[in-house]
Amino acid sequence: MSPVILRCEGATIRFGGLTALNDVSFELRQGHILGIIGPNGAGKSTLFNLLTGIYKPVAGKLEFMGHNLVGVTPHQIVRLGISRTFQSSRLFGDLSVLDNVLIGMHTQTTTGVMRAIFMPWRARRELTAAAERAGQLLRMVSEELYENRFSLASGLAQADRRRLEIARALAASPKLLLLDEPSAGMDDKETDALITDIRRIQQIQPTLSLIIIEHDMRLVADLPDSIMVFDFGQKIMEGSFNEIRKVERVQQAYLGK
Ligand code: ADP
Ligand code: MG
Repeated sequence: MSPVILRCEGATIRFGGLTALNDVSFELRQGHILGIIGPNGAGKSTLFNLLTGIYKPVAGKLEFMGHNLVGVTPHQIVRLGISRTFQSSRLFGDLSVLDNVLIGMHTQTTTGVMRAIFMPWRARRELTAAAERAGQLLRMVSEELYENRFSLASGLAQADRRRLEIARALAASPKLLLLDEPSAGMDDKETDALITDIRRIQQIQPTLSLIIIEHDMRLVADLPDSIMVFDFGQKIMEGSFNEIRKVERVQQAYLGK
């Protein structure tokens, strides 16, 4: 069994009178995929905001590869190796596909993409290397995206925008990648392609762990090693797809039965 890289114990988050996460515990092993399903408002995205340092828990422990995450800034958490995509697209539409990935790399290069403009020589050389790596990342996620690397991000179809966000999140060289509803806005065929893409990424980086929030049952049935079901801020169960599909409450709420 691979080592546990993430451990969450009794995490609770409140917004005023609302308990958005209530005593949530789970762990994740290296190279594993954890799925999260649950109705709107169940606390799924809040969990990602907790893991990335945007929200602070009122109770609970969070440990990632031996580091405590509670009270750590979002920037430091990216450096520790956690990166994410958002439920709603956050691309820079006026920049090229490649530049969007370069921006994701910003935390990595010593001089940074922004300073390259002001510090021509040394920074430019670094930028060339970074652009090459950004190209490789695009290729890993989707050959088609790579071919469109000089196009404006705003011109991409919705499915490609979602893929580009994954490439950008990977640019920070994460050990844990959090995907918030990656198949949103995709049809069945596009979702199948996304499943293939995520599989390929994991084949190339077998130690990468993922947590995927999803509503599309094709993806949930296919990718995760384990699935957590959330409702009203609580983790109501966890198991394989075959285990959770047998539970009546899950069938009614999520499987359309
Ligand atoms: P999900 O992603 O499962 O649909 P969320 O995690 O986004 O749900 O939200 C869980 C609950 O927490 C919702 O009731 C939402 O309105 C509330 N919530 C999330 N973020 C905030 C915030 N910053 N301030 C107040 N309430 C919030
Ligand atoms: Mg959400």
